Amino acid sequence: MTVKTRFAPSPTGYLHVGGARTALYSWLYAKNQGGEFVLRIEDTDLERSTQEAVDAILEGMSWMGMEWDEGPYYQTKRFERYNELVDQLLAQGKAYKCYASKELLDEVRAEQEANKEMPRYDANHPKIKAANEAAKDGDACVIRFNNPKDGTVVFDDQIRGRIEISNDQLDDLIIRRTDGSPTYNFCVVVDDWDMGITHVVRGEDHINNTPRQINIYQALGAPVPVFAHCAMILGDDGAKLSKRHGAVSVMQYRDEGYLPNALNNYLVRLGWSHGDQEIFSEQEMIDLFSLNAISKSASAFNTDKLLWLNNHYIKNSDPAYVAKYLQWHLDQRALKTDNGPAITDVISLVGERCNTLVELADQIAYFYQDFSEFEAGAAKKHLRGVAKQPLELALQKVEQLEDWTTESIKQNVIAAVCEELEIGMGKVGMPLRVAVTGGGQSPSVDAVMELVGKERVIARIKMAIGFIVEREANA
Ligand code: GLU
Repeated sequence: MTVKTRFAPSPTGYLHVGGARTALYSWLYAKNQGGEFVLRIEDTDLERSTQEAVDAILEGMSWMGMEWDEGPYYQTKRFERYNELVDQLLAQGKAYKCYASKELLDEVRAEQEANKEMPRYDANHPKIKAANEAAKDGDACVIRFNNPKDGTVVFDDQIRGRIEISNDQLDDLIIRRTDGSPTYNFCVVVDDWDMGITHVVRGEDHINNTPRQINIYQALGAPVPVFAHCAMILGDDGAKLSKRHGAVSVMQYRDEGYLPNALNNYLVRLGWSHGDQEIFSEQEMIDLFSLNAISKSASAFNTDKLLWLNNHYIKNSDPAYVAKYLQWHLDQRALKTDNGPAITDVISLVGERCNTLVELADQIAYFYQDFSEFEAGAAKKHLRGVAKQPLELALQKVEQLEDWTTESIKQNVIAAVCEELEIGMGKVGMPLRVAVTGGGQSPSVDAVMELVGKERVIARIKMAIGFIVEREANA
């Protein structure tokens, strides 16, 4: 049997991290089993579903690299199929028409509450019975599923273990509304059956629906899939993760400079483990993933850990991979990189210092853009009178240097100036750094100079000397 899993979001908002993690688990399980992964858009709630949300979900899935083998299917395109099966259950007596008005149901409910009974739909209540008997064909009605009255529903949740619910806890749920539209619990079952889903991985907010859905599978004569209900994600304060905790939309993580493989690695570990391993390549995640190693308890989101992982991936990924995702941030800044060093070389040099691609994008402009001012603090400290002579000598040596490599810059410019003027490394390195980058912080200045390029380095040292001269004149 081929394993087939699915992710079935309702398009009422963006793809949030909770949904993304569920999707990831579902996707990983399919890959682990050599199976298939289906994407289904559950858009039957016409009022709350939007095309914008559909687009946001597809964009989020693609950004995370979760490709689907089938779909996206849309429930709104399948109404005919659902209704065909509602009619079939009706004909078989496994579902029935209910004419009780909302007012009547409210009245019965109030009565049950007053009698301290569990409020529920009761087809045998005398008032509901009377309403149904008095109804004429063509009166407005809903279709209710005739839930078994005896026995229990049992299933082995892959995460939570055995779950058993007595049928007397479940009432006859509506499967088709007065307006003719089928309801969520029914559509999900029909879809999972028609699409051949063998394993349903979803959030634990659906755990109460599962026994009802199992009864519907059985009424339809459909095989019941395996279920795995994932616990919630909490914010670092222990409350359910929400907008209040900052980023919750997957695309916001892109905006904040995370790499998708860092977010995936973070999300997979948030509620699943393999020993105490923290770093998982995509292939390792696929190879090692299993449903029963998913945690039963809720997990707390920890942004510091995500940042740590992001730094790890910026530092250790192929620079071409980082470049692909950095590009979006460069575009936001309208920073063009065709008139400077290869972006992959810049990433190799600067990346390890950055926790996010936003930081990286912020720190590399000087490789590609000239600046007209030095950072005030850095200039004040390092572009002083004493720096003039070392910079002038460095300029001379740069102009004469033919072998423009980091090693040669280190030896023949920086070390040579130190030696000739009998001064320490910092007295040359820091003014040069400010001259070449505009600020006081950068990777090793010789390596930076190599990438910035000889011509730009010359112009910038001249600009720094000019700055010092002017400053001295005004002192
Ligand atoms: N559409 C449901 C939701 O977004 C998921 C249903 C399911 O996974 O069975 O919550």
